[in-house]
Amino acid sequence: MAEHERAACVIGWPVEHSRSPLIHKYWLAKYGIAGDYRREAVTAEDFPAFVRDLAARGYVGANVTLPHKEAALAVSEPDAQAQAVGAANTLWLENGRLRSTNTDVEGFLGNLDACVPGWDRGLRTAVVLGAGGAARAAVYGLRARNVGRIFVVNRTLEKAEALRAAFGERVYPHPWSRLAEALAPAGLLVNTTSLGMRGQPPLEIDIAPLGSRAVVCDLVYSPLRTALLAQAESHGLRTADGLGMLLHQAVRGFSLWFGMTPEVTPDLRALVERDLAGH
Ligand code: NAP
Repeated sequence: MAEHERAACVIGWPVEHSRSPLIHKYWLAKYGIAGDYRREAVTAEDFPAFVRDLAARGYVGANVTLPHKEAALAVSEPDAQAQAVGAANTLWLENGRLRSTNTDVEGFLGNLDACVPGWDRGLRTAVVLGAGGAARAAVYGLRARNVGRIFVVNRTLEKAEALRAAFGERVYPHPWSRLAEALAPAGLLVNTTSLGMRGQPPLEIDIAPLGSRAVVCDLVYSPLRTALLAQAESHGLRTADGLGMLLHQAVRGFSLWFGMTPEVTPDLRALVERDLAGH
């Protein structure tokens, strides 16, 4: 590595599946930046020491993926966003301090802004399926856009109740068995569960109660066109897919590490789509 070259990495266990190197290396080449982005397979046990020595290892920052997202919060100085979500996926060094944030929030919002401009104008009610880490990022984002009522529908209702405790009374924990009642007034439906993902059970819901102006967003990106998105399109609804969120969540990390804000372009999307097609 040249002395002036900046490098970042994605830390996970396992980490081979991560598409982050593909995305960041594309931008490094596109913008002619002499930098590097690598994969680092690090166990949970080794994670704290690894990030403590991040600079000594030649890194200006890192993405963090499973199973380290909560640990990343504990070993760094998180911003308000990461703190509220309860997990960090992006680390950077700021005057020798290890800082962290959660870019799934802007990935979620940025993707909707790009795919369905004006999606949040007058949006009163949203339905979020799931209550895990991705749901927390989505709920945080929806609150930031002033959505008045956010139904959180989850198999384990206690976890939806925990989101209300964390994010306040605009969050309505709602049982899966009464999903139709929540869908009827909703202008946005977001799937943040892992249902519908390759290798996971299907997401079997009927979205017919949604109004004709509703938007449907799926965070699952493998397969790219999920059964939920296909159903939404068959009803003539506007959609936003999980790959778009994956690309948009990468923007902030790149800008923190390499000093310029990259663009999410059709070329980049096509590159990652081709990679996903080969699994
Ligand atoms: P997580 O914290 O493990 O949460 C998983 C959620 O799925 C929980 O709400 C869980 O319900 C629900 N679930 C799992 N299996 C289920 C089943 N058989 N029946 C009903 N509900 C089930 O995971 P996460 O980090 O939030 O990620 C969730 C999904 O979002 C994954 O597919 C991930 O790839 C995707 N994601 C995508 C992006 C992107 O950039 N596109 C970013 C982040 C995450 P219980 O609480 O009842 O267990």
